[in-house]
Amino acid sequence: MYRFDEICGNARLLDHLQGALRTKRTSHAYLLAGGEGMGKKRIAQTFAMCLECEEGGTEPCGRCSSCRAFLAGSHPDIATVRPTKKTLGVDDIREQILEDVKLKQYHYPYKIYIVEQADTMTVQAQNALLKTLEEPPAYAVFLLLAQRMENFLPTVLSRTVVLKLRPLPERTVAEYLCRKKQVSPEEAGVLAAYAQGSIGRALSLLEEEGFAAMRQDILSKLERLPTAPLSEVLLWAKELEQYKGDPRFLDIMSLWYRDVLAAKRLGDPSFLIQQDKQREIFAAAVESTASLAKKAAAVEQARRALAANGNFRLTMEVMLMQLKEKESND
Ligand SMILES: [Zn+2]
Repeated sequence: MYRFDEICGNARLLDHLQGALRTKRTSHAYLLAGGEGMGKKRIAQTFAMCLECEEGGTEPCGRCSSCRAFLAGSHPDIATVRPTKKTLGVDDIREQILEDVKLKQYHYPYKIYIVEQADTMTVQAQNALLKTLEEPPAYAVFLLLAQRMENFLPTVLSRTVVLKLRPLPERTVAEYLCRKKQVSPEEAGVLAAYAQGSIGRALSLLEEEGFAAMRQDILSKLERLPTAPLSEVLLWAKELEQYKGDPRFLDIMSLWYRDVLAAKRLGDPSFLIQQDKQREIFAAAVESTASLAKKAAAVEQARRALAANGNFRLTMEVMLMQLKEKESND
């Protein structure tokens, strides 16, 4: 469904776009900035549909020839621009935008370019696009999608309306999963906690079998950690190498210690995020708060070391030793 009222959160940003549609005062260039899976593309597509819709309302009608062409994936005047390599180079901009934008729209009011990963534009690519942004043909609209803003030239930013998406509250993400995907409230809570305010990320976690398996593996290691011999625990550093490219395994560890600490301090299962692991979490909440906090910090330290390109195996060994450390007074 492409409708603004189906998009969760970011109400002010949507108000801005719908206000512009209502008053017919839309700009030639927008920059939608926000993390992965936060809905940039969905918002841009819905806005593009509205601009072209024959009803001219603040939601796409879904029935006119323009809306139907878009839904069929064959709209002649809405183009998606993507990098052909790792970055959007000057050739991409030239071939996919500059040569095309000279030609008038085929049938509908505007000619719209949805530019994915616009923050990967090279400096030359941005300069090439700049001229068109400065003097766009009356029918042209550019919707730039980006995760990071710092890669843009100030001259490009000054020619676009910058709209920043905000992460959604965990509860909103969880409710969405329950309502739209019939996920149980326990599972929805867990997925929302890992999704960092992004519905797209939560959906991919839900669909991705690997994530559930990874979580199971990490949690069973953390449960066994206090009783397993150190020699065995150190071997896990090698096993963890399978997650080398996927730092979410550290999110799983962080959330575990967060919940164990909550169980320890509050003693009330309703404060746990991982409702499906109540028993295991309470069983682990026997150490002192100080010791648990130290272990949570060890996970964060490992995260920083890996982000700074630290040696994976060594970082894991150091972290596992810290997690294994006994309290000095027992
Ligand atoms: Zn329509």
